[in-house]
Amino acid sequence: MKTAAIYTRVSSDQQKDKKTIGSQVDELLHFAQEQGYLVPEEYIFRDEGYSGAILVRPGLERVRDLSAEGQIQAVLIYSPDRLSRNYAYQVVLMDEFASCGTEVLFINSPKADTPEEALLLQFQGMIAEYERAIIKERSRRGKRFKAKSGVVSVLCGAPYGYNYIKKTDDTSAYYEINEQEASVVREMFRMYTEDFCGIGTVARKFTSEKIPTRKNIGKWERSVIWAMLRNPAYCGKACYGKTEHAERQRITKPLRAQGGFVAQSGCNREKPREEWIEIAVPAIISQETFDIAQERLKNNKLHSQRNTKVETLLQGMMVCSECGYSLYRTHTTTSAKKKIYYYRCFGSDAYRFEGVRKCNCKPIRQDYLDNIVWQQLVALLEEPKLIQREVEKRVEETKKASPVIKQKEIIVKQRTKLLQSMDKLLDAYQEGLITIVQLRKRMPDLQKRINTIDKELESLKNHELALDQRLQLLDAESFTSQLGLNVKQLDIKEKKKILRLLVKEVVVGDDIIDIKHSIPLKEAKNEKNSKSYQLCTRSNISVTK
Ligand SMILES: [Zn+2]
Repeated sequence: MKTAAIYTRVSSDQQKDKKTIGSQVDELLHFAQEQGYLVPEEYIFRDEGYSGAILVRPGLERVRDLSAEGQIQAVLIYSPDRLSRNYAYQVVLMDEFASCGTEVLFINSPKADTPEEALLLQFQGMIAEYERAIIKERSRRGKRFKAKSGVVSVLCGAPYGYNYIKKTDDTSAYYEINEQEASVVREMFRMYTEDFCGIGTVARKFTSEKIPTRKNIGKWERSVIWAMLRNPAYCGKACYGKTEHAERQRITKPLRAQGGFVAQSGCNREKPREEWIEIAVPAIISQETFDIAQERLKNNKLHSQRNTKVETLLQGMMVCSECGYSLYRTHTTTSAKKKIYYYRCFGSDAYRFEGVRKCNCKPIRQDYLDNIVWQQLVALLEEPKLIQREVEKRVEETKKASPVIKQKEIIVKQRTKLLQSMDKLLDAYQEGLITIVQLRKRMPDLQKRINTIDKELESLKNHELALDQRLQLLDAESFTSQLGLNVKQLDIKEKKKILRLLVKEVVVGDDIIDIKHSIPLKEAKNEKNSKSYQLCTRSNISVTK
């Protein structure tokens, strides 16, 4: 008859649960009988109160010894997570047992009823992840195919103006015109294409007339009107695949409020119109009306105030210190028909927030502000030492934060301690407190440990060298010389380019301007999203407005 060992384990917090050591042993003994194994009493091992996350457990050690000595042909275990909760450890142990010719038998495959039973879960997790990826890809391809064959179910519901009719056994899903909503859509297009109303006018009119929105939020946002005017579904061509996943381009106000952290690395970006897949749906407006609307949208975009022909240095780089909204460029025209440009905080526009402005900051003259910021920048460029100093500070900080350096410090401390213990041993021997035999017995062990540490230090040194090499690329002088331009004779486009290289954003407050610098790293120069580190200098200048 073959001999087997039984291995059981419960962690301390699980003991109150039903799966006690006792019940595990009972079941395993029964199992052994069924499988025809003999289990001597002394081959039943119980690890009580041991976590599955560590391998050093007395019972487990004994089982491994028995297996290595060839005393057992099998180990019987309740479930793989009794062996270890860590998948890597499970693999190590299973390999070890297999190499000794010991079979491992589990009563239970993992059920994950309790966290403890999450056996092989990590591995299963990997498989599940792989399967999810495959399913996602299949579903994407499937949806594309369906969209191409004109099935509306691939679209997320129906837009305002339509009801989405779910598929039945006989019919597939379809859009049905919601007459009440459709009349709102028609009125929207009519106002925009015949009365030449602006989007804001349409939004205000609908809101004041209390026309319910889809979600009945009591307010028509301009962005909603804009999106509806652009939706080709209204002229009978609902579109699938309008957007794609893309890298995030800019930091929005909510993100800035969170410190510029981006939880999601990407965002959705519109794909070119010709890549959209059209699905025929009932039309609410004519193709002609839709085309006129598109033409008007295009023209408005072209002539929008934002679409400035007069470029200014700081456009899109300023943030209000009071409310966190960005500043936009605007102008007034004097009686002499002269345009005076200002930067104005979004939060200070009452019309954007139902008549109540969020911020009381005043607009600031564009030419003054541009000039001040540019002068600061020129000063910085003319003084490479200033940049160099900041770069050195960065290097220092990077080094300090490096795990390699931290680890080195710990190891060096360990080495010193070992040397001290060797000294103490020698002292003890010299003072006759220990014999030469005792000294000989203990010294080699300490020496061995020091050798190991020396080897580790050697490998860390290599890491450190690599780090140094990387940091050397951060060289300010070469950076400034690369600009190699006479900074005083640049046109606005070049100025803008340089500014965007060196400055992250400009925080504008009532009496303070805070220029947040950034500096590009050499190693990142060829990458698309070049990394930059914020410099610590801040230029605080009083500005008269
Ligand atoms: Zn503001």
